Amino acid sequence: MYVLLVEDERRLAQVVRRVLEEEGHTVDNAYDGEEGLAMALDASHDIIVLDIMLPEKDGIEVCRELRRKRVDTPVLLLTALDGVEDRVRGLDAGADDYLPKPFAFQELLARLRALGRRKVQGREPAELRVDNLALDLRRRRAERSGKTIELSPKEFTLLEFLMRNEGRVVTRSQILDHLWGYDYESDSNLVDVYVAYLRRKVDRGHGRQLIRTVRGIGYALGD
Ligand code: CA
Repeated sequence: MYVLLVEDERRLAQVVRRVLEEEGHTVDNAYDGEEGLAMALDASHDIIVLDIMLPEKDGIEVCRELRRKRVDTPVLLLTALDGVEDRVRGLDAGADDYLPKPFAFQELLARLRALGRRKVQGREPAELRVDNLALDLRRRRAERSGKTIELSPKEFTLLEFLMRNEGRVVTRSQILDHLWGYDYESDSNLVDVYVAYLRRKVDRGHGRQLIRTVRGIGYALGD
């Protein structure tokens, strides 16, 4: 699943991210409420894990705004252990479930599975498609014009990210953060290298070039 994790405690955020990735999920991190809201509005995550105590805008306010904007992505709130009032406010604001901190990762994973099932029954696509490029998310396979494309796990994640953001420009730092989970500003060259690999596999030999360079900003896939 494609998970947005909004958590300002960076160490915790990184650990949770690693645990989720080990389970095969793809994770975006946001570190404050404003950023989390913007990212939630900008991409189609399957689940949002939302801390309540956040800088800029608290989790309950983020949740309320999402629902107001008709974003119905399942939200799992991370609450303080004794935050009964927070939980009630959170559920009233449209959250689907909550998990008191500190939590066991096993419990987090179980709750995400439960929320994910609800979502999958809804409309989680089994594959992404742009033009004649198809990405099978369950089997993690890519093909173009019916021909299989061999991708490394990182390349797959990058292609999935670009396809989920079809037609939108993603910046080098967004890609860097999405693929490696940290701000590694000094070496955005890494991104260019991976995009070059991917482009060779996806676009070479095809009339229509799907991956576009947006000069000075980043990349986009599709129109
Ligand atoms: Ca917090």
